[in-house]
This record gives sequence, structure tokens and C-alpha cells, in this order.
Amino acid sequence: MSKHKTLTTAAGIPISDNQTSLTAGERGPTLMQDHQLVEKLAHFHRERIPERVVHAKAAGAHGTFTVTKDITAYTKAHIFSKVGTQTDVLGRFSTVAGEKGSADTVRDVRGFALKFYTKEGNWDMVGNNTPVFFIRDAIKFPDFIHTQKRMPQTNLRSETMWWDFWSLVPEVLHQVTILFSDRGTPLGIPFMNGYGSHTYSFINAKEERFWVKFHFKTQQGIKNMTPEEANRIAGEDPDFHTRQLFEAIERGDYPKWTFYVQIMPEADAENYRWNPFDLTKVWPHNDYPLIEVGVLEMNRNPVNYFAEIEQSAFSPANVVPGISFSPDKMLQARIFAYADAHRYRLGANYEQLPVNRPHVEVNNYNRDGFMAMDDNGGSLVNYEPNSFGGPKEDPAFKEPPLKISGNAGRYEQKRGVDDDYIQPGNLFRLMSSDEQARLITNIVDSLKNVPKEIQERMVAHFQKADKEYGNGVAKGLGL
Ligand code: NDP
Repeated sequence: MSKHKTLTTAAGIPISDNQTSLTAGERGPTLMQDHQLVEKLAHFHRERIPERVVHAKAAGAHGTFTVTKDITAYTKAHIFSKVGTQTDVLGRFSTVAGEKGSADTVRDVRGFALKFYTKEGNWDMVGNNTPVFFIRDAIKFPDFIHTQKRMPQTNLRSETMWWDFWSLVPEVLHQVTILFSDRGTPLGIPFMNGYGSHTYSFINAKEERFWVKFHFKTQQGIKNMTPEEANRIAGEDPDFHTRQLFEAIERGDYPKWTFYVQIMPEADAENYRWNPFDLTKVWPHNDYPLIEVGVLEMNRNPVNYFAEIEQSAFSPANVVPGISFSPDKMLQARIFAYADAHRYRLGANYEQLPVNRPHVEVNNYNRDGFMAMDDNGGSLVNYEPNSFGGPKEDPAFKEPPLKISGNAGRYEQKRGVDDDYIQPGNLFRLMSSDEQARLITNIVDSLKNVPKEIQERMVAHFQKADKEYGNGVAKGLGL
């Protein structure tokens, strides 16, 4: 038997008995002075922190990113500075709609969030397993997510809510086509791709800007479940993906992804046939081929899930010198929203938590707030500028200016009348006839439960993407 450490209270005071509470006599009531009991109950009541509104259910692991190809022509970011450079990474892989205890295998988009602990601070790549998203303007986001959650009266999820919203917002069609394809029910986290989805920018040492998209392609191959398997496993083992990832890493079977970028010179964006900042669009590989960058490997399980995965906080605002934002309206909103959600969920000092803390020194004038866990700036003055040796800005990190002009207004981002339909149609036409048939069956199985008026609106959208696609759904619904 191993020698145990002595049990203590949170204040480190040794405990003599953890099995019986302190009572007034053998049959008497509990005494209030039983601080140990009070502390145990009080802490237990506070074990849950607010659940993420989206992406609540997740598995996560630590890993490494290794550069295999030189992309210094496009970015000066230190993480990409030399072939062979390795960077520690945290990965969190989630479903979107379900609550923290919900099943892993249900049809859903998957979150693919990475935190790179670089020598220039943390770079968070907060992506999904799909290259596009349902909407391209964040003002629609809370409404969209409400349709994926629960109905106000019954507290039930509702396919009518999904399809009602989707039929009224045709920009969703591309993502809906991916969601109801085979890729909507992945076999597991190692068997799906990750995409940055948004357009970001790279800045090189010559201060040139490039627009960039990020792709993490699985080296395990894309593998999916049939809807029947996914539904069965959702009942038999709701934590299937979490278990699969943990066990793979435990036995040394480390999942790997090849990291690629697509690069668009800054000036191309003006005239490219697609709006390159529209999150519902891809850049076809023929226009902007994939350029290999490196390998991501997830190779270390968390020791404590809450500390390392639940408390992890990713934000698209975290970019490092050489990587930056773009005018993508959804990205602009996420830059605000993620950090805002973490401040609510974890508190103002969430970046100080061990899993979020960068592996470099942090020097700033943020002070105080709940749960300041570092030295809170020590004895240094808490204002800037100052005459006492406090940290100072460095203009070397300034980004080249981005030319923006226009009249303030609320604009639709469309370019061309068929804009919402061409790429979903291209995706449908790229599928084998078997894949097309399964896509149509999956859609029909869900749409058959909603009012006819909504079905008809959806069929019209599918038909605009591809006649065969729309006719197949119409036939399946008996319309
Ligand atoms: P490309 O031939 O250049 O790209 C096709 C890509 O589609 C493949 O490389 C693969 O990307 C992905 N793909 C293949 N089968 C499926 C499937 N069943 N479900 C989802 N994705 C699949 O053509 P385009 O670039 O013109 O793209 C055509 C369509 O492919 C797009 O409208 C988009 O829906 C989809 N797609 C495009 C991507 C892009 O970045 N261009 C990325 C992913 C999907 P991967 O290897 O990344 O899985």
C-alpha cells in the first residue's frame, strides 16, 4: 500500500475524520462549527461553472505542431520561421448544439479549436470540421443558435425550428449540404478535417499582406458513421468520440493532421469572383491551391479534464505577429464574442489559468479583478506611460495599414444572384451518386417532420443549387 498524504481543508489544515460529521451527541443535530462539512458542501454546490452556450460537449488533448515546409515568403510569424520548429498545442474538439452531457455521435458540425503556445504569445485557431458556416453576418448568430437549442415551451429540440430558419436564410445551404452529407456523422475526431473557415491574413517580413485560409487534413483518412450507427452509439455510448480519442492517445496511436494554407495576394480580393470574406464560401482549390506547412499531432491526454479542457478558453482574437484578421464580418464579431464569453464563464483573469497562460512572459497594466492568480504586476506601477521602467509598446510590431473605404450602412454581402446556390451545387455534383442518395435520404428523414410550407421552401432552394438535388428531396417528401 502506498503511503497517503494527510487530507487537509482548503486552507491546508489537517483533517482527523472525513467519515462522520460533528454532532451534539450520538443522535443529536450537526454542529455549525463543523467547518470541514460546511466547506465540503459549499464547494460542492459551486462545482459547475456556466456551460458554454455552444460547443459545450468536447474532448481535448495536448500535442505538438511541427513545421515541414517553408512559408516565410508569406508570414513572419515565429511559429513558421524554420522547418523543424516545434510548438506545443492544446486541442479541443466539440459538438455544437448539444449540452455538456449530450451524445458525441449525433449529426452536427464539430468544433476544431487549437491553441498554439508560440514564442510570441498564444495563437488560437478556433475552427470547425467544415470549411464554411451557416451564416455570414453575426447579427443572425443568436437567432440561428436558438433554432439549434430547445423550444421555449417544451424544452425539446425541434426540426421545425431548424428548417424554418434555414428555409428563410438561403445562405445556409452550403453548410446544410455538408451537415446532412456523410461528414455530418464522423466516426471520430481523428477521422475529420479541421478548417479555420474564416479568411485571415498573413504578413511577411517585407510587410506584405496575404489573405489566408487554414486547412488541417486528417492523416487517418475521412471516416464517417452511417446515421443508424450514429444513433445506436448515441444511446449505447454517448461519450464515444471522447473515449476513442483518449484511448487512442493512451495506446500511442497519435492522430495527425497535415496543415495546409491557401494564399491569396492582397490585391486579388478586390476582383475575385467570390467575396473572399464571405464565410459561406470556399476558395476553390483550382484558384488557390493548398500549400503544405506542417504536421499537427495530438499526443498527450489531459491529467485533469476540468483544469485543462473545460477551463481552456480559445479566442480568434489571439493572433500573433505575422498572422492577423480580415474584414470577414463573422470573424470581426467572434474577435469580440469569444473573449466576452470567457470573461462571463471563467472571469476577467481567465488568461491566467494554467492551461490558458502563454508560455512567454505577460507584461501589461491589467490589474486586479476576481481570482487574480499571478503576481498581479507585483510592485510595478499600474499606469502607462511611466518613469519607473514599466513595459512599453514596440512599434516594430505595427501592422501595415489596411485600406478600407465606404459609406456606413447595413449591406448584404452577396456578389451575383446565384451566389448562395453555386457552391452547394458544386458540392452536390462532386459527390458520387451513392453519396448524393444518402444526402437526400438524410435530409428527407429530417424534413419529413416539418410543416409542408417549410418543406416546399427548402425544396426550391435545393433545386436552385442543383435540379437533381431538389427533385430528389421533393420525391422523398412526396411533394
Ligand atoms: P475542389 O475539387 O478544388 O475541392 C473539392 C474538395 O471538396 C476536396 O478537396 C475535399 O476537400 C472536399 N470534399 C470532397 N468530397 C466531399 C464531401 N463529400 N463533402 C464535403 N467535402 C468534400 O473543388 P472546389 O474547391 O471547387 O470545391 C467544391 C466543393 O467542395 C465546394 O463547394 C465545397 O463545398 C467543397 N469543399 C471545398 C473545399 C475548398 O477549400 N475548396 C474544402 C472542403 C470542401 P477536403 O480534402 O478538405 O475534405
